Amino acid sequence: MKICLFWFRRDLRIHDNAGLTAALASGVPVLPLFIYDKDILDQLPAKADARLTFIYDEVEKLAARTEAAGGAFLARYGAPLAVLEQLVQDFEVAAVHTNEDYEPYATRRDAAVGEMLARHGVDFFTYKDQVIFAKDEIMTKSGTVPKVFGAYLKAYTAKLTDDLLLPYGSADNFTKANLLPAPAAKAGPRPTLASMGFARKEQYFPPVQLPPDGLVRNYHQTRNTPANEHGTTRESLNLRFGTLSVREVLRQAKALNQKLLAEIIWRDFFMMLLWHFPNTATESYDPKMRDLPYRNNEDEFRAWCEGRTGYPLVDAGMRELNQTGYLPNRVRMTVAGFLVKHLFIDWRWGERYFADKLLDYEMANNVGNWQWMAGTGAISAPWFRVYSPESQLEKVDPELTYVKRWVPEIGTSKYPAPIVEHKFGRERAVEAIRAARIAAS
Ligand SMILES: Cc1cc2nc3c(=O)[nH]c(=O)nc-3n(C[C@H](O)[C@H](O)[C@H](O)COP(=O)(O)OP(=O)(O)OC[C@H]3O[C@@H](n4cnc5c(N)ncnc54)[C@H](O)[C@@H]3O)c2cc1C
Repeated sequence: MKICLFWFRRDLRIHDNAGLTAALASGVPVLPLFIYDKDILDQLPAKADARLTFIYDEVEKLAARTEAAGGAFLARYGAPLAVLEQLVQDFEVAAVHTNEDYEPYATRRDAAVGEMLARHGVDFFTYKDQVIFAKDEIMTKSGTVPKVFGAYLKAYTAKLTDDLLLPYGSADNFTKANLLPAPAAKAGPRPTLASMGFARKEQYFPPVQLPPDGLVRNYHQTRNTPANEHGTTRESLNLRFGTLSVREVLRQAKALNQKLLAEIIWRDFFMMLLWHFPNTATESYDPKMRDLPYRNNEDEFRAWCEGRTGYPLVDAGMRELNQTGYLPNRVRMTVAGFLVKHLFIDWRWGERYFADKLLDYEMANNVGNWQWMAGTGAISAPWFRVYSPESQLEKVDPELTYVKRWVPEIGTSKYPAPIVEHKFGRERAVEAIRAARIAAS
């Protein structure tokens, strides 16, 4: 029997899923598939990984939902290319459907998968699902890649008609009639965390649901108060793994809060930039900022990682990150600015540390924001701007409510003295960058 595969990746939901909708309408039974990518899992630093636990639980929910609808669900552990090549031999596969992914590794992987499937005479269809506008759908009037967020936002919101935010009908069509029935599927057992060599890591995950309307309405007033755990939406993890769709999230923001709408659009913006400039995943965008004489002092880096810099907002932030895998945006900016300017350590060290720790780690957002803070990006804060962690603290946590939650020894002799004096650190970085820019021009 001819079938098609729908390959779930970072879109772990049945509802409002562009590629799944197309697969279900293709006229051949759909066999949903998830591949635990060995190449990615091999790089995880610890055997108990919270993100993998989240993915595993969500994949199991997809499988249960598929089986309840009368269909089979496949999950495999291995290198995607090899797994898919085996599947097109085990089944009579007419086509593989999947949603686009814009990260450099994913675009290379998908190009290789497309070639392999073509050799086997299998169609490979990919769909835009995780953003509203991708690749070069929004360009400047002169046809170049937009590098000014204000102008991009204006063009984006002008194009953002309500019909682009309508949900796809995948949930309604996810029925026995469109799925490959379980007995026909030879699905075999699904991998477990243990069978892949991992263990569960219990951690708080924000619920898989839209934030309350009330929170969204007040977002512009509450977003910069890190002590308030309900001051921002906490939808980043669900956007990362596609457990919420970007359309439902944007529909809510568009109706209730323009500031939130703009923040979510930063995500499309950074994905667009990473797709155009994949080298910026590991290299500064600005050539004049590529050879900075970063100090890269390992002891100071460790003090930053462990929240022992003597700057309360930096230390509270790093400890929250280490313990929960989350950090509010304003504090992400503060800790990042401190690393790249006051300690004058390469932004890539910080970017990698965040990549290991953040539950919502998203290469485009992480690289984009780190390069913004370092002044090295396609879009950046001016390279000479150095935020003072002390004045940030006065602005966002004047009563030290947030700081005391994470740094209980604040105000006692156990709390360290500042690792570097603010004015000295600022001038050291600015002078070193100025000299490097002159040398490079
Ligand atoms: C140094 C640094 C590193 C970051 N790394 C990541 C990362 O790896 N993954 C990630 O999703 N976000 C990252 N961000 C952006 C932002 O901090 C988080 O998206 C946000 O804090 C997540 O919490 P929330 O969902 O409650 O955000 P909210 O404030 O409620 O915003 C809603 C959504 O808008 C998007 N968004 C908000 N701010 C930004 C932004 N500055 N850039 C891009 N998208 C944004 C996110 O998808 C977010 O979930 C980083 C920011 C900085 C300064």
